Amino acid sequence: MKVRLISHTPDVEKVIYVAARLCYSKHDVDFIEREASHKSPQDLIERLKKSGHLSVFEHASFTFSLEGVSRVMTHQLVRHRIASYSQRSQRYVDESNFSCVIPPSIAENQEALRLYEEAVDKARSLYRKLCELGVDKEDARYIIPQAIESKIIVTMNARELLHFFTLRCCNRAQWEIREAAKRMLSLVKRVAPVVFRDAGPACVRGACSEGEFSCGKAEEVRKEFELL
Ligand SMILES: Cc1cc2nc3c(=O)[nH]c(=O)nc-3n(C[C@H](O)[C@H](O)[C@H](O)COP(=O)(O)OP(=O)(O)OC[C@H]3O[C@@H](n4cnc5c(N)ncnc54)[C@H](O)[C@@H]3O)c2cc1C
Repeated sequence: MKVRLISHTPDVEKVIYVAARLCYSKHDVDFIEREASHKSPQDLIERLKKSGHLSVFEHASFTFSLEGVSRVMTHQLVRHRIASYSQRSQRYVDESNFSCVIPPSIAENQEALRLYEEAVDKARSLYRKLCELGVDKEDARYIIPQAIESKIIVTMNARELLHFFTLRCCNRAQWEIREAAKRMLSLVKRVAPVVFRDAGPACVRGACSEGEFSCGKAEEVRKEFELL
């Protein structure tokens, strides 16, 4: 998979700082902006998160491109409603040469891999045949496996991203969306290190929220996210 941060709000932490200070300050925006230029946003951002004053994080937005990800994964991704999406269309784009994502559990099992590739080849041939018979691409695609590689652009604000990382960086999430979420987190950490310092699954910040479904690997996961 290829994940890129293609655009983001400039001065993410400054915007959040100014928005939050504006709520409680008697000063005007020019003054607060000047203040933001020479003050670290760290204390304020930590306090905002602790108190749940999260609406100010909505002023910063991030746009990612994801390529070489399966439709299985993008279907999980688009369940996140506080976001904007644009995905390669199977109605308009010819998929005669589609490729499929291979889950590691299948890639490392020779017989499973053989059967998987056989089924994908069959689906590809059928897709082409249906198109040759005059069936529209939008209908021929019903034969395509969910594993098909797709491309999607997603825009989320920092508040939604923090929520998304909590759910999708968790070991309970499926491997592919977890991998995408980890890469997205790694990219935004470079842009807004204070905002995303403790982002990731709940266990990175405290107790696991998964109850009986907990993976029981909190220590391992904490180390994994420290290294991101
Ligand atoms: C491990 C895992 C397993 C899952 N398994 C399944 C499954 O088996 N079946 C299934 O259908 N889905 C499943 N999901 C998807 C899950 O149910 C959510 O649809 C998805 O994670 C999006 O999260 P969300 O609804 O919290 O947040 P988002 O859509 O990202 O929204 C963010 C937040 O905004 C608020 N919000 C958004 N829309 C509304 C609204 N209409 N009303 C009130 N508040 C709103 C909520 O506080 C929400 O948490 C799974 C997700 C995970 C992480």
